[in-house]
This record gives sequence, C-alpha cells and structure tokens, in this order.
Amino acid sequence: IYDRLDEPSRGMLENNLAAAEEGECGVAFATGMAAIRASLGVLVRAGDAVLAHHTMYGCTYSLFTKWFPRFGVDVRFEDLRDTGRIRDLLTKEVRAVYFETPSNPVLELIDIAAVRRAVDGANEGRAPDRKVLIVVDNTFATPHCQRPITLGADLVCHSLTKNIGGFGTDMGGVVVGPRVLEPELLLFRKDLGAPLAPRSAWPHLVYGLPTLSLRSRRQIETAGIVAEHLEDHGMVAQVLYPGLPSHPQHELAARQMVDVDGRFAPGIMLSFLLEGDDASRREKGRRMMDHLAGHALSVTLAVSLGQIRTLIEHPSSMTH
Ligand SMILES: *Cc1c(COP(=O)(O)O)cnc(C)c1O
Repeated sequence: IYDRLDEPSRGMLENNLAAAEEGECGVAFATGMAAIRASLGVLVRAGDAVLAHHTMYGCTYSLFTKWFPRFGVDVRFEDLRDTGRIRDLLTKEVRAVYFETPSNPVLELIDIAAVRRAVDGANEGRAPDRKVLIVVDNTFATPHCQRPITLGADLVCHSLTKNIGGFGTDMGGVVVGPRVLEPELLLFRKDLGAPLAPRSAWPHLVYGLPTLSLRSRRQIETAGIVAEHLEDHGMVAQVLYPGLPSHPQHELAARQMVDVDGRFAPGIMLSFLLEGDDASRREKGRRMMDHLAGHALSVTLAVSLGQIRTLIEHPSSMTH
C-alpha cells in the first residue's frame, strides 16, 4: 500500500536478519537509534522504568537521560555485570532490562543467561503486560559472534550502519524479536516514522549481511593480533579485548561469544588505556590521536566501527 508500512527489499532484509539472530521477526529502521527507540518505545509508558547497564553508546545514554525523562520514563543505571543484584533491582515499575554486551566503548560483558534467570524470577506472578523484557544491543558482537535470543534475550537491536552493513556506506537499524511484538513495532514505525529506506535495505541485503561471517573471521584474527601487540607495548596500561585471557570476563566471553560453527568469536572491537593517571592519560590520548591523524598509514581517526578499515577514536573527548 505504502512504503512506510511494508516494502519487498526491506522485507527480505528483515527476514534474513531475523534468521541470523534466530528470532521470529525483524523490523528495520533508518538508523540504529531509531531501532533502539522503537524496541523500548513499544514496551514502556509514563511511570515505567528501564534498568540499564552503566556503560553504553553515547547517543543511547543521551536518549535515556535527556529524552526518556521528558516522557515520564525513568532509566536506572547499574553495573549489570553483577547479575546477582538484578533480581532486587527489578522493582514493579521496571518493564525492561537494557544493555550492550560487549559494551561500547569499554567491552564490559553481561551474562545474558544469568539476566534471563533473574528476570524469570521477577516475572513470576506479574501480569502478562507487566512482565520484564530483556533488550540487548548486539551491535558490537553482531550475530556472527553472539545470538542473544538463543541465550534468553527477548529483543535484539542493531545499528546496521556498523558491522552488518560492513562498508560504512549506508545507515540502518533493526529490532529482532518475538512474533507477538511485531504488530506493535510496525505500528510504532508507521506512526513515529524512520523506516529503513528500500534503497538502503538493498546494500545491507546484498553485500553486508551475506559477507558478515567472511569479514568477521578475518577481522577477529586481526583484532587478536592488534590486542596482543598493544598488550606488550610499554606505553599501554591495559587492553580490553574479550579474546585476551587477561580480559576480566574472558571465561564468560568463551561461553557467550561463539559463532554458529562453535568457534570462539570474541569480536572485532578493542579498547586500551594508556599508562598514567587520569589527567596525563587524557593529554597523552589527545596527542596520540593527533599524531595518528597525521601519520598513520592504515588506521583512520574516525568514529563508527565495523568497516573494512581500522578506525581509532578517543571516546571521552569524541563520543562519550
Ligand atoms: C552506532 C551505535 C548505535 C547507533 O546506531 P546508528 O545507526 O548510528 O543510529 C547504537 N548502538 C551502538 C552500540 C552503536 O555502536
């Protein structure tokens, strides 16, 4: 009837993304932010609360702290790595648990199956429309490395702009989840807008998603080499990469981040801290960024991620 409601290229992409994430349906949006807004938009209303992990993508943090309160939705930030506390944090106002794993930018992991157990406990005795749902932003891992729905998440969102698109040429977002939520997600997209444009669906469908596994396997290998190099570097205090045995949650990574063939798939993203105290680190970080911007042959100073180029950025001064 009308392209904002339904369109064949986008529909094929949605079916493929739902299959990749092992979910029942997918609804695609113009950007990752539109997808995140919709995933929670269909769950919460004024007076409700969202329990969220304390580190996350900068714009999601801004959405949660600047805009959600205006609509009467309270977002509570906690360290969800400590899954033992979650049951107590699920007070009656909480309608959703929201997190990224690994989190942007510090690669903290959340044990999805453990969150599921805590939420199941809280959901006993709740009315069907008051049950807590688990929403995972799987942008950093992609379905190549981790399929949160198989571990107990209800909804998965993505920025297709990143590693699923894969080439940094097109924006997009998707929510994958259970069939029962599809009508609400479609209605939300019809009325609030921001559907994925058909011409942006096409490259994700034809180039991005089909090459995800191929690109990811190579990029994981590269990330591991870079991580080991940095770990041995005298000016680097700490490297955070789930594939390194030194990652504080390496054991959880080995359980949770596995590709469809059962291989350990710790992702393509890493972060590192320079030596020094907080103040000198900031200044050193600034100098390092400027130096790289002017001299690096194969590393580009730019935000975004999941492209075929290696990018580097300084979260505290650029995105967070
Ligand atoms: C980039 C990003 C988003 C937002 O995606 P857009 O497509 O730029 O709107 C959301 N979550 C994470 C983890 C991201 O890295």
